[in-house]
Amino acid sequence: MKVKLWGVRGSYPTPLNTETIEEKIVKALTIARPGDISSEESVRLFVKSLPLSIRGTYGGNTSCIEVRTSTGELIIVDCGSGLSGLGRELMSGDFGKGRGAANIFITHTHWDHIHGIPFFTPVYIKGNRFNFYSAFPDLKERMDYQQAETHFPITFDNMQASKRFFNVKQDENFFINDVKIYTKSMPHPGGAYGIRIEDGDKVFVYTSDCEFGIHEMDDIHAYDDFFKDADVLLFDAQYTFQESLIDKISWGHSSASIAIDIAARYNVKNLVLFHHDPNYNDEKLNSVISNAKSYMHVNKKVAETLQLDLAYEGMEFNL
Ligand SMILES: [Zn+2]
Ligand SMILES: [Zn+2]
Repeated sequence: MKVKLWGVRGSYPTPLNTETIEEKIVKALTIARPGDISSEESVRLFVKSLPLSIRGTYGGNTSCIEVRTSTGELIIVDCGSGLSGLGRELMSGDFGKGRGAANIFITHTHWDHIHGIPFFTPVYIKGNRFNFYSAFPDLKERMDYQQAETHFPITFDNMQASKRFFNVKQDENFFINDVKIYTKSMPHPGGAYGIRIEDGDKVFVYTSDCEFGIHEMDDIHAYDDFFKDADVLLFDAQYTFQESLIDKISWGHSSASIAIDIAARYNVKNLVLFHHDPNYNDEKLNSVISNAKSYMHVNKKVAETLQLDLAYEGMEFNL
């Protein structure tokens, strides 16, 4: 199973502005030595050697994940603005010829998880086939509503690809070919569902958005089958610990420390912090991952067994 992240930001897309880009160029040139900038080739090598937060960005597009199963099925999880980039890539293959097929799982219909759909080119092409899965029985109506003409010039029904809707029940397995999928209700205003994908003996778990606090941890056994033994766990860590406990309680999101506690409890191999706050620039995100690593290292056993990463656009996993 292969997983690629096309959108990692929470709430709304956050393109870089001129001031931020200038600051990155200043940082890069400040640490460059004369030999680093003596030719185009050396400049390119130097730029490649810089940390992501200087040469680029963790990313501003909202949630969208591409999963390729071992049997070749495409599963798209959430349709934030990252979906448009995935769409451009898909158009160079079968989807550009009207012969593509994909499964789309929607965790919930807050804007940042569906607003990529009107800008997803493959769904405009007749012949392409999309199966939509959701635990919300009225998902089709919600898609129609997003593209009512008061909101968008082209209705959902006028997008020419075939679109079928499947209502899945939480805590019940369903299958796409031999891949086992399991969805679980998450604590989030308006409701949201996490998804666990088991392909052979490999497990990918995605939970965005979710607010795990003290009460949820008291009741954590309800999530045993959902989180256990994940090879990769993508977890909502939008807020700092301070924000999640005091300033933004009940806003529907978690912090890195809770994510680490859950990953450690369930023998997760690789925890990836996801759904970054739109107010956080790349420098702030560096401090988020640095603080999370400090928290993780308090427990030596966890530090030895858990790989901890911060999600960035374009990040890929081979499970
Ligand atoms: Zn969200
Ligand atoms: Zn949400």
